[in-house]
Amino acid sequence: MKSLEGLNEEQIEAVETIDRNTIVFAGPGTGKTRIITQRIAYLFERDLVPPSRKVLAITFTNKAANEMRSRVQNLGIDSRRIRLGTFHNLCQSVLRAYGDKIEVPRDFTFVSPAQKNKLILSVLRNNNVRNMRENAFANWISKLKNSSVDYGEYLRKTEKTKTIGLTSAAVEYETRLRENNMIDFDDAILLTVTLLKNHSELLWLYHNAFPYLLIDEMQDTNRMQLELIRLLGEGARNVMAVADDDQSIYGWRGALPTVIGEYIEQLNAHSITLVRNYRSPQIILDAANSLIEHNDKREKKTLLGRETEPDDCLEIKGFTTAIQEAEWVADKIKEIHKEGIEYKKIIVLYRSRHPGLKIVDDMFIQKEIPFRHFGKNFNKVELFSDLMKESLKLIVEPSNDLILESILESLIPRYSKLYRSNKTVNHYEELIEGKLSVTKLTEITPEDEMDDAVKQFAKFCAEYNHTQSYLKIYNDLYDLLKISTLLLLEKNDAYEQSRHLELLKEKMIKSRSRNIIDLVGELDLQDESNYIENSIDEVGISTFHAAKGLEYKAVFIIALEDDIVPARYDEAEERRGLYVAMTRSESKLYMSYAQQRDRQRKQPSRFFEEIDVKRFAHKIR
Ligand code: ATP
Ligand code: MG
Repeated sequence: MKSLEGLNEEQIEAVETIDRNTIVFAGPGTGKTRIITQRIAYLFERDLVPPSRKVLAITFTNKAANEMRSRVQNLGIDSRRIRLGTFHNLCQSVLRAYGDKIEVPRDFTFVSPAQKNKLILSVLRNNNVRNMRENAFANWISKLKNSSVDYGEYLRKTEKTKTIGLTSAAVEYETRLRENNMIDFDDAILLTVTLLKNHSELLWLYHNAFPYLLIDEMQDTNRMQLELIRLLGEGARNVMAVADDDQSIYGWRGALPTVIGEYIEQLNAHSITLVRNYRSPQIILDAANSLIEHNDKREKKTLLGRETEPDDCLEIKGFTTAIQEAEWVADKIKEIHKEGIEYKKIIVLYRSRHPGLKIVDDMFIQKEIPFRHFGKNFNKVELFSDLMKESLKLIVEPSNDLILESILESLIPRYSKLYRSNKTVNHYEELIEGKLSVTKLTEITPEDEMDDAVKQFAKFCAEYNHTQSYLKIYNDLYDLLKISTLLLLEKNDAYEQSRHLELLKEKMIKSRSRNIIDLVGELDLQDESNYIENSIDEVGISTFHAAKGLEYKAVFIIALEDDIVPARYDEAEERRGLYVAMTRSESKLYMSYAQQRDRQRKQPSRFFEEIDVKRFAHKIR
C-alpha cells in the first residue's frame, strides 16, 4: 500500500488507527507531519471517507497547508476531498457561511494589525486608561477571548461595576470593530465556537462533512481552539493530533503548555510515541537535547538521529563585532554553496526582528547572495502590496473609517514628501466636516494635486464596478496609488516591494474567489511566506517562530546573546524557541554571537553554558 511505504512500525500504527481519537507525541523530525499526509492518503486508499465527505486537516500556517496539499496530490489524491488550512482559515469560512445566525454579517473583514493598534490607542485614550500600554491591552483581550470564559458576558458583568477603565475600553473596542463590520483573529475562533455551540444543526452538518480530523503542531493551540477541536471531533471520534511539548513556543499568544494533557483527557486519546528522527545528525540532536533538558516541566523523550555525519556538522563561533559575524555567515554560505548546497536549503535564524540585523542584509547584498525574509521585513516601513490589499477592503466597505484612515495615513506622508505639502488626515476630516468616509471624500473640492489624487482614489472605491476582472482592479489601483509606489520603489528595498506586488497580482489573477469579499478574505489570511515560490533559489532569513516545522540542509542561528536569547520573557519558552531553531538542521548547524551589537556590549547567551559545548562543538573561537 502506497500510503504505508517506507514508514516505521509506530508511524504505521498512527496512520492506521481509526475509530478512536489519537495523539502522536514525539520530538522534532520524527515524521509527525508526514504521518498526517500519509494518513490522508491511507483513508482514501482504503475508501474510508464516504463519498461527498472530506478530510479536515488543520495546519499551523498557510505555507504548511500548501506544502501538504501538494504532497497529498503527489500521492494521487483529489485535493477537492481535503479541507486543508489554518484554524483561522476554517473559522472564516464557517462564519461567512453561517455567521448571520449569531449576527456576524457575511461580508465582515479582519482588522489589520496597524488598524487594531490605532483603535486600541484611541479606546485607551477615550476611557482614560493610563496604566496599560497598547500591547498589554491587546494581549489582555486576546487572552480573555482565548480562554474559556464567555467574553461578552464577562464584559457585560464587569462593565456595571467599573464604568471607566479597562472594561469600558474593551467594550468600546468591540463596538468600534462591529460598527465597521470587522472582527479580529481571536474573534474568528471565539465566534465559531459560539456559533457551533448554539446551533446543533450546524454542528451536525460539520460532523457529517468531516468524518476525519487531523491537527498538526497541536502544542501551540489555545484553549478556544481546543474547544473547537473537541466540538468538531465529538461526532466521529476520529481526531488525530500530532504534538511536541518541547516545541511549544506560542505561550505569549495564549497557547497553553497544558493543552496536550487537556486534549488527551477531553478526547480520551490513545497515545503513540516515535523515537526515530529522520532529519538531523545525532550530534545536533544531542546538543539540542542537552539544552532542552534544562526545562523541568517536560516529557522526557528519546531521539535517535543519523550516526554517520562528520563531526564538523556543528560549529559555535564568537565574534568581536556583529559585522564580523555577518561577514562570516556570508562567507560560510558561499563556501557551502560551492560545495553543492542550494541557497534555498540554507536558512539564517534570529530570535526576533531587530533593526541591528539589517547588517546581514547589507552583507548579503555586498557579497551577492540572493536572500529573502520570511514574513515582513523589520526594516520595511510597510509593503506597498499591503496598501493595495487594504484598498480592496475599502471597496467592500466604503464606510469603514478605520481602514480609510490607515490608508490615508500611509499615503499622505508620501504624497506630502512629493509635493512638499503638510497635509494630514485631519485636513480631510475638516474638508468633509466630520467622520471620514469614502463617499464623502468623493465630494471634496480639491485644493491641490494631492487632494485630487485622494478624491480619484475615493471615487474608484465608491463606484467600483463588480463585474471587472481582478487584473483590471489590480491595474487600476496600481495606477491610482502609483505616486507612492514610485517613492517606495526608490528605496533600497525596491526588489522586495516589487516582488510582493508581482505576487499579489499573481494571487489575484489565480484567485478562485467568486467575489471581491471572498478575495479579500483569502488575501487576509495569507502569511507572506506563502507568496514565495519555492522554486527561487534564495537563502531564507527568518525568526525562530516562522521556521517551525521546516527543515534545511544548513541552519545559521545568529545573535545568540543574552537579552536577545533568552529574551526577557519566560525562560523555559525561550529555551524551546532555540530548541526549535537547532532542530531544523538536516546536516549543518552554525551558532554564533558577537560581543558588540548596536553599539552595545553583549554577553554570549547563557544557553551556551547549558549546551554541552565541549563535547559537541568542533571549533570555538
Ligand atoms: P517537526 O516537529 O520539526 O515538525 P516532524 O515530526 O513533523 O518534525 P517531519 O517533517 O514529518 O517531522 O519529518 C522529518 C523528515 O523526515 C522529513 O523530511 C520526512 O520526509 C522524513 N521522514 C519521516 N518519516 C520517515 C520515514 N519513515 N523514512 C524516511 N524519512 C522519513
Ligand atoms: Mg512537523
